[in-house]
Amino acid sequence: MTCFSVAELLVSAAIFLNDASSFRLFMHEWALAEAVIAAASQIAKKEELKEVTEVTIKVGELQQVELNIFRFALLQLKPASFKDAKFRITRAKATLKCRACGHTWPFKRQKLDKSTAEAIHFVPEVAHAYIKCPKCGSPDFEITEGRGIWLKNIKGVR
Ligand code: ZN
Repeated sequence: MTCFSVAELLVSAAIFLNDASSFRLFMHEWALAEAVIAAASQIAKKEELKEVTEVTIKVGELQQVELNIFRFALLQLKPASFKDAKFRITRAKATLKCRACGHTWPFKRQKLDKSTAEAIHFVPEVAHAYIKCPKCGSPDFEITEGRGIWLKNIKGVR
């Protein structure tokens, strides 16, 4: 049994961010799952794993992805060497960074009303209209963490 970490391998960041229709949203989950499987297969091959037993995936809090569809797509697309693999999907907290003063702070959904939080979830750009730097008040910030999908860890048998 071997276990190793893959340092924040960025599989896909912020692609299709402006998806509006549910059809494209569905395609988006499959595209992400395909990218994750392709990357995981490459690593398994490189590490000479005969069998992959666990794949840990980190999904940014502000990454638009329907986790049920994503998980289903992973199970459908997985190759034979992944047949007993568990897919662990964890959500990563978002961090914001002020472009004016450099202050960083965690994104807090509970400070927003529900519809605003939903809007930000689907279109992160909307965040700029509602969130200001708690230190200097500037609305000019970037999302430094919380977007994208990372392959965090793969466990398998050599
Ligand atoms: Zn600031």
